[in-house]
Amino acid sequence: MTKGKQVQSVRGMHDILPEDQKYWRYIQKKIESLLEFYGFERISTPVLEQAELFQRAVGETSDIISKEIYTLKTKGGDTLALRPEATAPLVRAYLENGMNVRPHPVKLYVIDPMFRHDEPQAGRYRQFYQLDVETIGDGSEAVDAELIFLAYKLLESLGLENYCVHINSIGDQNCRPAYIKALKDYFKHRSKKLCANCKIRLKENVLRILDCKEADCKEAVKESPQMVDFLDEQCRLHFKHVLEFLDEAKVPYILNPYLVRGLDYYTRTVFEIIPDDAESSQATLLGGGRYDKLIEQMGGVKTPACGWAMGFERIIMAMKAANINVPEIGPKPKIFLVQLGEAPKRKALPLFESFRKAGIEAKTSLGRDSIKSQLRMAHRLGVRFALIFGQKEALDGTVIIREMDTGIQETIPLEKIVDEVKKRLKA
Ligand code: AMP
Repeated sequence: MTKGKQVQSVRGMHDILPEDQKYWRYIQKKIESLLEFYGFERISTPVLEQAELFQRAVGETSDIISKEIYTLKTKGGDTLALRPEATAPLVRAYLENGMNVRPHPVKLYVIDPMFRHDEPQAGRYRQFYQLDVETIGDGSEAVDAELIFLAYKLLESLGLENYCVHINSIGDQNCRPAYIKALKDYFKHRSKKLCANCKIRLKENVLRILDCKEADCKEAVKESPQMVDFLDEQCRLHFKHVLEFLDEAKVPYILNPYLVRGLDYYTRTVFEIIPDDAESSQATLLGGGRYDKLIEQMGGVKTPACGWAMGFERIIMAMKAANINVPEIGPKPKIFLVQLGEAPKRKALPLFESFRKAGIEAKTSLGRDSIKSQLRMAHRLGVRFALIFGQKEALDGTVIIREMDTGIQETIPLEKIVDEVKKRLKA
């Protein structure tokens, strides 16, 4: 066989190595215990969906659809998309599986990979994992507040500090058109100052100018009209009550009049959680909002809903930067089985299995041969006892138990070794 060129991973996609798995497991456990206590149930949807689902739900002018979506054509001629976000698939699953007849609100969460063909950089990947939390079927302010509260508490339970909720209301279909008109009038007079993208946004989706990261556009945004001044009475009261709930729950927040978020489906409350020292948009830990029109737009009956999504990779980056310690996966081993030679190696597997059955945490290394290297490993793992199983012991039906601290050894009959270890571990 000729030596071939090594195949590399796809740009922007990364492996999650064994040493990082502990973060994933730790975060997942925290999510499960918090969300399940608050009545959320986990759901998983396929990686592939009809591309049309996202075009209809997320909006053609959003970055996700206009630039970042991965699509593919099947042999049968369907156009499918790798899921770039979780809300549209979740709404599809809710409608398709008749979950609309369940008692409402339906509270769901998703932990799955998302795919976006964005420019890769620190904290921005083309495949990344999201936790997505959604409450469907309740339009009350308490739901927005509960979701924001849970996001805040989740970060707190992970040991993160110094982050804040940024919040705004973008109104609804009744009051937003007047705001959009005012924004258009405002930016029309400043269009020369806008970047090329924002010149297009001015025609297609003027709200998106508000979260442009270009310095000149940011400058132009500074004096622009604010949605709060355009909210109708119902939207204004909704927003006021959400803030009162947050005050009561002691969740700190910053009113950010220019927070709009990139997707078309949001109504009323939108929010993000951002570290206090964030210098770039890649630092945003999570974001979400209310989407009272989406389910109707996707073919269901009028059903209010609200939710948010958090990126696992960003959270892990923040945890590492804050030196947050995460427990190692799996309990610490108590014994190490050292095996020497062919016959012991063959018999070592059933012997090792007898410790698993007895609930005694053990480690072994069937590939290694020298007693020195195996004892070194046992030492590194910090086990209390090494069991030495060589040619003589295999022949005699015995095993040597060695106390690691003192080096004292004793030979024990094979059939009694599990009980002997149990006795010594108790002592
Ligand atoms: P979004 O769906 O864009 O509102 O993103 C919600 C959260 O997902 C963000 O706050 C990030 O934590 C995470 N996220 C979004 N895009 C990426 C990406 N390309 N790479 C890694 N994490 C991401």
